[in-house]
Amino acid sequence: MTPSADDLAKPWTFALPTTITFGDGVARNLAAIVAEFGCRPIWVTDRALSHLPVFTGLRELLPEAPVFAEVTPDPTVACVDRLAARIAEGRHDAVVAVGGGSAMDCAKAAAHLAAAGLPGIRPIHSGGVPVGRASLPLIAVPTTAGTGSEVTPIAVLNDEEKSLKGPIAGDALYPARAVVDPELTHALPLKVTTATGLDALAHAIEGYWSRNHQPLCDMLAIEAARLICANLPRVLRAPSDADARRAMSLAATTAGAAFQRPKTAMVHACSYPLSARYHLPHGAACAFTMEEAIRINAPAMGGRMDLFLRGAGLESIEALIEVIRDAKEFAGLPRTLRDAGIAPSDIPRLARESLHPILNNNPRPMTETDLAAMYARLA
Ligand code: ZN
Repeated sequence: MTPSADDLAKPWTFALPTTITFGDGVARNLAAIVAEFGCRPIWVTDRALSHLPVFTGLRELLPEAPVFAEVTPDPTVACVDRLAARIAEGRHDAVVAVGGGSAMDCAKAAAHLAAAGLPGIRPIHSGGVPVGRASLPLIAVPTTAGTGSEVTPIAVLNDEEKSLKGPIAGDALYPARAVVDPELTHALPLKVTTATGLDALAHAIEGYWSRNHQPLCDMLAIEAARLICANLPRVLRAPSDADARRAMSLAATTAGAAFQRPKTAMVHACSYPLSARYHLPHGAACAFTMEEAIRINAPAMGGRMDLFLRGAGLESIEALIEVIRDAKEFAGLPRTLRDAGIAPSDIPRLARESLHPILNNNPRPMTETDLAAMYARLA
């Protein structure tokens, strides 16, 4: 793919300080990897995962390290504060996060909080205080092929008291090491594989169409989308296809690298109230508005979407939408407001709560009225 002359003429900055180790079985070296960073590590995972072999198998590699397994989906600011207190109390010098975006995001925020000696994350999440520079080394071990959180300086947190879900971002949140072992994803259930795979596709698409996009991230985004469009349908129909699982893990990490600087746009802005208020898992929430967002944004991109489609091996926008629709249908993810348990009378509030600042990255400006009209089409 060749960036347009306009895109090549713009200055840009790229950095990815996270060291990535990728491959089947690489997580079996976790003890040696963690020892590079500290001698008093703590495990962080979510409740559901803490009893499953994917975590218990890894835990045996560092049996002395305590486990913080209180992370819930849509991790809360309160959970971050509790974990930071545990890290400080135990004088832990490395944090090993195992799971999807929830475990990694909670661990990233808590590792920063503990290193900075701050009492709580809320001032950073909703009080305008920037993420500082302090951080403890975080080793991120994704067990899904989706979030890309293992290579981003972003943590998405939920403040239940304020009904406010949204990201915090800062360089201190980059994991020191990403250990991406596709074998850890082999036993993922169909719905989780689908939702997380579509989240990765959303990262590729949104990183690409963000107003802050840049040529290097564009290339990563297009390659991630190509891998996902070719391999997500395969992995849904043959969950033990190791080649397809490997491709999806590569795609998810690549998509993470693609959006970590440009950031995301309307699909993610809309996902926050869909998760916080209606409890759609993050990937399902992103997938919910993706087809609509593609139709809305493509005409505002001055032909850039054609470059994306060509690079991703797709003939048309309809072919891209077909991949998304097919995956959602196959796995039974919600496609309408009714599927998602959202009353049509909730549309005005949903539109209002989707007005997150990351909407400013969207190629087409979106007003509350535009968002309400979009949700009405999903009724
Ligand atoms: Zn996402």
